[in-house]
Amino acid sequence: MRAADVQSEITEVLVTEEQILAKLEEVAAQVAVDYAGKELLLVGVLKGAVMVMADFSRALPGEVTMDWMAVSSYGTGTRSSGVVQIRKDLDTDLHDKHVLIVEDIIDSGLTLSWLLTNFASRGAASVEVFALLRKPDAAKVHVDCRYVGFEIPNEFVVGYGLDYAEKYRNLRDVAILAPHVYS
Ligand code: 5GP
Ligand code: MG
Ligand code: MG
Repeated sequence: MRAADVQSEITEVLVTEEQILAKLEEVAAQVAVDYAGKELLLVGVLKGAVMVMADFSRALPGEVTMDWMAVSSYGTGTRSSGVVQIRKDLDTDLHDKHVLIVEDIIDSGLTLSWLLTNFASRGAASVEVFALLRKPDAAKVHVDCRYVGFEIPNEFVVGYGLDYAEKYRNLRDVAILAPHVYS
C-alpha cells in the first residue's frame, strides 16, 4: 500500500461521509414509505455502487433482496464512451419484481438509460432508480431518477466507491480528483 498522499491528489471534498450517511437515512425512510407492503429488489451497479448499497440497504428498515450487475462504459478514462457492455448479468429473474437500481452517479446518463431499456424487457412490476450523485450539467440523455442524493458540479469525482483506474474507492468522502492525476 502506497503511503497516503491523497491530499495532493484531490482538490476539494464535495460531500462528506457524514452528509452521505445522513442522506441515505433520509432516502431510506422515503423508500420504506413508497414500497410499504411490497417486496423490493435492490440492484447495485458494480463496482461504484458497492458502498452506497452497503450503507443504504442497512438503512432500510424492512426485508429486501439484493442483486448485482456489472456494466462498463468507462474503461480507465474519465469520459463516458456511451458504449455499454454487460460484464456480469443479474442472477435474479425480474419478473413481477419491484426493482430499485442503486447507482453511484449519473453523469451523461447513458449507462442508466441503457440499463433501463434493458430492464424494461424483463417483465419487472416496476423499475426505479436511486443515484447517490448526479451531475445535471453533464446530462446527454434524460434519465428518470426517482431518488437523488446530491447534485454536484460537472467535475470528475472519486471516493465512496467511485474510482479512477480502480483507486480511491475506499476514500470515505466524495472529492474532486486533481486534474494532474489524469491529465
Ligand atoms: P454515465 O456517464 O453513463 O452516466 O456514467 C457511467 C458511469 O461512469 C457511472 O456509473 C460511474 O461509475 C462512472 N462515472 C461517471 N462520472 C464519474 C465521476 O465523476 N467519477 C467517477 N469515478 N466515475 C464516474
Ligand atoms: Mg456506476
Ligand atoms: Mg469507474
